[in-house]
Amino acid sequence: MPRQPSLDSLRTTLQRLSLKQKQEVYAWLGEAIAAEAQGAIELPQQSGSAAIEQRHYEGKLYQLEKRRCNKAGCRCMTGAVAEAGHGPYWYAYWKEQKKVRSQYVGKRPPWNRDSSQ
Ligand SMILES: [Zn+2]
Repeated sequence: MPRQPSLDSLRTTLQRLSLKQKQEVYAWLGEAIAAEAQGAIELPQQSGSAAIEQRHYEGKLYQLEKRRCNKAGCRCMTGAVAEAGHGPYWYAYWKEQKKVRSQYVGKRPPWNRDSSQ
């Protein structure tokens, strides 16, 4: 865990943001708090995948991953999965009756879905 920044310095930094940036931080913080309050999701250790990025969104944990497909002879099966794996693609993780569920999301995460790019 990184050292926690002091709230005072954080506040000073936040005050320098534009209104739009403040709104983004506010929305993101709401998601992060909701996800953390719901309980941390313990992801199973997968040797066939490499996590690149994580983000909480609408109560789910989204992870950008490169994965092996486990087909013999595929290029993804040689070398480090972070280099050779397929993707990266987003996967969603959430808890249901204390079980961690996951779902393939694809290249575009839901928070980008309504943007034109
Ligand atoms: Zn493959």
